[in-house]
Amino acid sequence: MTIKSNKKKHILIPEPRSNFLSVKCKQCSKENIVFSHTTIDIKCKSCNAIIAERTGSRAKLFSEGIEILD
Ligand SMILES: [Zn+2]
Repeated sequence: MTIKSNKKKHILIPEPRSNFLSVKCKQCSKENIVFSHTTIDIKCKSCNAIIAERTGSRAKLFSEGIEILD
């Protein structure tokens, strides 16, 4: 009886690149620039509604976000 060794494969998950997102506020449609890995909750500049929440990694968006590529 042969014991198959379960070789652990090292799967590299690419670190998601941090970038800036243009997030349109659901309430007032104002576009806000949000850092994708923000460490603070982002509020709309115009109406103060929360548009992005910090998670420790990539921010959770409460509205549609468009990536800004540079
Ligand atoms: Zn707003």
